[in-house]
Amino acid sequence: MMTPAATALGLHLRVLVESATSSAAQVVVDSPVGMPREPGVLEQLAEGADVLTFEHEHVPNSVLDALAARGVAVHPSAGALRHAQDKIVMRSRLTALGVPCPEWAPVSTELELTEFLESHGGSAVVKTSHGGYDGKGVRVVSSADEVSDWFAAAADGSGAPLLVEERVPFSRELAALVARRPSGELVCWPVVESVQVDGVCSEVTAPAPGLHPATEARAEAVARAVAEGLGVTGVLAVELFEVPDEAGGPPRVLVNELAMRPHNSGHWTIDGAVTSQFEQHLRAVLDLPLGDPSPRARWTVMANVLGTSLPDPTAALPAVAAADAGAKVHLYGKEVRAGRKLGHVNVSGDDLDDVRDRARRAAALLRGDTA
Ligand code: ADP
Repeated sequence: MMTPAATALGLHLRVLVESATSSAAQVVVDSPVGMPREPGVLEQLAEGADVLTFEHEHVPNSVLDALAARGVAVHPSAGALRHAQDKIVMRSRLTALGVPCPEWAPVSTELELTEFLESHGGSAVVKTSHGGYDGKGVRVVSSADEVSDWFAAAADGSGAPLLVEERVPFSRELAALVARRPSGELVCWPVVESVQVDGVCSEVTAPAPGLHPATEARAEAVARAVAEGLGVTGVLAVELFEVPDEAGGPPRVLVNELAMRPHNSGHWTIDGAVTSQFEQHLRAVLDLPLGDPSPRARWTVMANVLGTSLPDPTAALPAVAAADAGAKVHLYGKEVRAGRKLGHVNVSGDDLDDVRDRARRAAALLRGDTA
């Protein structure tokens, strides 16, 4: 999805891909195959490039530090990226910065978890500190033995250390998306609402409907504090919980997690904002002046296509066009697997109910739903 933006800006992308049939390899001409851990692979990738950046967090920090030491511009830096790689590192640092987080603790024994459960109403959320995504590595538990397998794996070194968080009674999930240049310029897109099903994002509404102006200001202030406090360069997505205020004031926000790259919560910007998150990420990591993040429409809804019963979601393109020629389809060229994110649809307009219905209908057609 970064390719059209790079093409428009006259930039050459070279992308390291895991396989010659991966999504990126289908659209980026210069796409060497390799794994970032293999010796010399990242050095070769960065050879002659102005900047090295990421579309996921799973790149070893030591390699990035070594590249930076050799003069390669790495954005975001390894020092910033660690906070998107390890949830214990992230929670410790945000707590030190005074950024609002759920109550949390690192736990290395079932006894420590039991004590946390007892002091937090008997249920809590246990997470692996790294390696999780899309809800894998997150379990709601009411007893420590529900994660005894994770404790065993952490103890023998085959799994990640664990942390526990209070189970936040959130009213909904929000995301604040910002972009920051090395020279410090920072812009925010409107705060969005995101809906997760089984830990996977299914829908995003931009801007978040009915968001209290004070809550929006808090969300933006949190995102800015994180970007500046951690020295993030490029796009930063801050996933948030909106929590009702017990005293009846505007809802508060707590940080759930961070992504330092274009993120699913920002896919709406491709069609719904003057500057997409992909263009903005390129601008930011190259330290070019940032584009206007304003929305192009009153509402944009992004609906993910999670799995399909069709042999390939492109089979539904005629049906989508017949149903709604204004629905903007984005398919990733991925092999079909149950529940896999295969693409998304953006729909913009003035009437939120209509926009949401249209986005859901188009995504349903691409999933092969007939009802
Ligand atoms: P991942 O790294 O897999 O995306 P997250 O930490 O974002 O995992 O958690 C996935 C989902 O689990 C969240 O979107 C939210 O719906 C739920 N969740 C995570 N942490 C908590 C918490 N402390 N309280 C309540 N729900 C949570």
